Amino acid sequence: MASRHEQSSRVARGARAASEISRRMTAFSPTRQKLLDVYRGMLATYGPQQWWPADSAFEVVLGAVLTQNTNWSNVERAIANLRQADALSLSAIQRLPREQLAQLIRPAGYYNLKTQRLLALCDYLSACQSLQSLAELPLHEARSGLLSVWGIGPETADDILLYALDRPVFVIDAYTRRLLVRLGLAAGRERYEDLRRGFERVLPPDVALFKQYHALLVEHAKRVCRKTPACESCCFASDCLQRI
Ligand code: SF4
Repeated sequence: MASRHEQSSRVARGARAASEISRRMTAFSPTRQKLLDVYRGMLATYGPQQWWPADSAFEVVLGAVLTQNTNWSNVERAIANLRQADALSLSAIQRLPREQLAQLIRPAGYYNLKTQRLLALCDYLSACQSLQSLAELPLHEARSGLLSVWGIGPETADDILLYALDRPVFVIDAYTRRLLVRLGLAAGRERYEDLRRGFERVLPPDVALFKQYHALLVEHAKRVCRKTPACESCCFASDCLQRI
């Protein structure tokens, strides 16, 4: 039978192992140089991206909700319907009968759910008085306000903060996570907030840089770093861990 000393050593070893596993799951500590190298590599390959594709800040807000779980071409069809119905403003969306709004955004999928989310977000924006008023709040207040809206998660909130309100928040999405893992910069199990903070900690709080960086990550993922990647034409092929 193990002595009390052996038992407590075993417990301590277990606690150390659990803490190491937890550290590996959440640690994301890239260097500024590495993140800028990745950025410059994509910029040199794909050139500047014109993001977010929208004519107004409110259209960005709509697109940020509509793009959840669907591709952008479906969002464009939904936005085109809203444009045709002259419903690309906060007040116009709120005036629409719920059923009509659902039909207009139907091409974006999950249209009943997205109708509820859009209306909840519009209620919140009305309570703030305007998008501009939200933009003038301290960043953490604006972010937690958006996150308090039903159906608005961190990626949608950060899309709105960065692309509609010009606030220096780094957007994380599945493409970002995939590239970080493939380049050996992340394990893939990190929480959204750890990845976001990792970028924001080392990069300058530069809205234009953050906008361009996220857009380039999306472009890179669509062009080459797909689920089945096209590594032979990738700008990171020489130092990617998962090059095929
Ligand atoms: S080499 Fe392949 S897996 Fe690596 S980043 Fe490029 S496309 Fe993605």
